[in-house]
Amino acid sequence: MSDRITLRRFDDMHCHFRMGHLLNEVLPVTALYAGRAIAMPNTRPRAILTGKDVSWYRDQIYRAGNWFAKQLSFEPLMTIEIRDSTTPEMIAEAKRAGAVAGKVYPLGVTTNSDEGLRDFFRPEISDTFRAMEEAGMLLLLHGELDQERTLVTKREEVFLPTLVMLAKKFPNLKIVLEHVSTRAGIEMVKQLGKNVAATITAHHLCLTLNDVIGYGIQPHNACNPMPKDFDDRDALIKAATSGNPKFFLGSDTAPHTRDKKECAKGACGVFTAPVLPELLVEIFEQAGHLGQLEDFTSRFGAEFYGLPLNEGEVVLVKREWVVPKQIGSVVPFRAGTKLQWKLSQ
Ligand SMILES: [Zn+2]
Repeated sequence: MSDRITLRRFDDMHCHFRMGHLLNEVLPVTALYAGRAIAMPNTRPRAILTGKDVSWYRDQIYRAGNWFAKQLSFEPLMTIEIRDSTTPEMIAEAKRAGAVAGKVYPLGVTTNSDEGLRDFFRPEISDTFRAMEEAGMLLLLHGELDQERTLVTKREEVFLPTLVMLAKKFPNLKIVLEHVSTRAGIEMVKQLGKNVAATITAHHLCLTLNDVIGYGIQPHNACNPMPKDFDDRDALIKAATSGNPKFFLGSDTAPHTRDKKECAKGACGVFTAPVLPELLVEIFEQAGHLGQLEDFTSRFGAEFYGLPLNEGEVVLVKREWVVPKQIGSVVPFRAGTKLQWKLSQ
């Protein structure tokens, strides 16, 4: 076993860069190893809804942090949030501003989804999805529904019929089921056509619900979708390490300041960016599929998005280290624990 691994720079197809001081803190971490990353649009106080917002947010990202000074090659992939009010004209304008995708948050299922989409079946929203299909923009789905008498752990499963409907109604619309978290979700993505793929996070490959509520409440493991059962986690690991191009990296690194996590009604979201390459190497090594890692981090996502592969490499070396208890104002995933691989900078 070698003690050094070289990988093509990553595409992280699901990142929360936030705004203001958090943006400055977290963006350089991802830029260390990702050539590109999808910048999610559910920012506050300003959500990214229009072409103008896209240009403004891209500007904020290019100004943030010191990744530019370090001469790292990094490109944010811009998105808009699709709401009930999003029109085909807004899609065309966002596309002109360089947005590659639109993200749907069904109402009320996660951070900043208070103005999320109410109804996937309205004719007006079908026109919007059709405009995306024609413009070649991807549809990214937070695939959960908050229904009456539905437990938080069942929200992905009850969303799956909506995914099926969208995939069949818009066969040329590329659809990504973001952060798939269940065996049922994996099976559905496999069954659906070539226009449907899924991102998988590193933390859903590590956690079950026990790690969130089974041994005391652990707010820094709490995220949406909630980690599920062992069988679901097994299915995710198998899909991620199988070499199936429908499954690729979207870390959903989602920083919240410590005070927003460690309180009553703490925010959901896990800050995995500072440990992401290291965790993935451990997971793929343990699964006996280290050879599949580069396709998962750096090929399948680019191919689904229709992008050329990244140039440049990242190197990891076998060296035990302890994850810091806090980075800036955020507690990282696996804080205070030992990891066996380290990104070499
Ligand atoms: Zn997210």
